[in-house]
Order: sequence, then structure tokens, then C-alpha cells
Amino acid sequence: TAEAPALELRGVSASYGQTAVLRDVSLRVAPGSVTALIGPNGAGKTTSLRVASGLMRPSSGQVLLYGTDVTRRPPARRAKGGLCHVPEGRGVYRNLTVRENLLMQSASGDPGETIDIATGVFPRLGERLSQKAGTLSGGEQQMLALSAAYVAEPSVVLVDEPSLGLAPIIVDTVFEFLKTLRTKGVALLCVDQYALRTLAIADHAYVLRRGEIVYDGAAAGLVEDNMFEKYIGEG
Ligand code: ATP
Repeated sequence: TAEAPALELRGVSASYGQTAVLRDVSLRVAPGSVTALIGPNGAGKTTSLRVASGLMRPSSGQVLLYGTDVTRRPPARRAKGGLCHVPEGRGVYRNLTVRENLLMQSASGDPGETIDIATGVFPRLGERLSQKAGTLSGGEQQMLALSAAYVAEPSVVLVDEPSLGLAPIIVDTVFEFLKTLRTKGVALLCVDQYALRTLAIADHAYVLRRGEIVYDGAAAGLVEDNMFEKYIGEG
């Protein structure tokens, strides 16, 4: 329906073997909005994104895309339905060139257009088109991975720790890119270690702690009144 969230996790629980990692997690990402998912290490952020994209099956609960229950759909079908997951680490095909990586991800039938769009967003990639992705610097690989969120023309994007291990100047590039995505109207669910920077581009925020949602509200609200300390503090 028109009112449905772009993405919804409804009462999701998940575990690795006997270890419960998510407990009754519910979250929604409104169409065209940015949602931050933050919390200490090991809280279950990555697992939440993996459940959303279908890489992991929840033990209970549902995943919905625009109101449709996709819990039993494999990742590739969710991707076809407009979901793009940019995983933690470098989500690129190391043995393909930059150009080939972009074409693999592209929704456009026009290779020239795909390259133009990607290099418009990340000019640096334009200088590396014929290079194997595995030989790029970490920052360039991350740019290439993030390009998928653009050239695949998704409606829902999940980004996991895009700034991890990157030099500060490249981190700026990453956040600029996330802002650009926002202007494209995609629904973005973002996990990043720079919680304050993530909150600054987000409308809504959730805080996960030990597998449970402990804050669900405006991103701005979390920054005020020591809320941040209270929720993000380790332990
Ligand atoms: P981080 O930022 O450190 O990646 P996170 O919030 O993304 O943290 P998850 O990666 O979702 O957290 O992990 C949640 C919990 O599940 C952690 O306790 C982690 O040790 C555990 N875990 C993650 N992956 C596995 C796995 N493949 N097998 C067993 N336990 C796992």
C-alpha cells in the first residue's frame, strides 16, 4: 500500500546456533527517508541488515518490503525487488575491473550511461576503470561498492559500516555520497561507527543494544539531552 514502509522488520529474532543475537527487533524505514541504526559493537546491527536482505533467516518475525512479506524470498529476489545491500568490508568483485563491477551492478542497458553516472558521483573511479577492483585502495573499493547503491537504481539501500578503515578525507566522501543518495529519494538504512555523523544525515534512528531496540525515535532527539551517552555507552 502507499502508506507502507519501504522496509520493515517486524518482531525479528535471530540467532547463530544457540546464541540469540536479535530479540524481537522491529524497525521501519519510510520511503525516501534515512534511518540510522546504531549501537555498540556486537549489538546485532550487521545481523539486522543480513536479515533484511535475506542473507540470514530469522528464527521468528517478518521482513516486509513495501508491505509485502519477503521473509521467505532469497536475497537475489529481494535485490530484483529494489533492495541493495552494501555489506561491511569491500563488497566488490576483486578479479573484475572497475568497469565490469559497475556493469554487473547496473540496472541500465546502456554501459556508457552507467559509467557516466558512477564516475559523476565518484570521479576517482573514472581514472581506474580498467583496473582490477582488488588492486584499488580501500577507499576506492568502498566507492566502487557504494556505486552499486546508485547504478542498480534501488529503492531501498542498506549500508553497513561504509567508513570503516578509511582515511578521514575518504570518510567525508562517503558521507557526501550518502547525502546524495538521500536526495535521490531512496530509503536508506545506515549503520556506521560515526554515530553522530550518521545521525546528522538521518531522519529516524534506532539504537540496538544486546540484540534489542532500546531507542526508536527522531535522530535529532538522540543527539539531545545526553540521550546519546545513555544509549551508546558500552555495556
Ligand atoms: P559490529 O559492529 O561489531 O559488527 P554488530 O552490531 O554489527 O557489531 P553483529 O555483527 O550483528 O553485531 O553481531 C552480533 C552478535 O552476533 C555478536 O555477539 C557476534 O559475536 C555474533 N556473531 C556475529 N556473526 C556470527 C557468526 N557468524 N557466528 C556466531 N556468532 C556471530
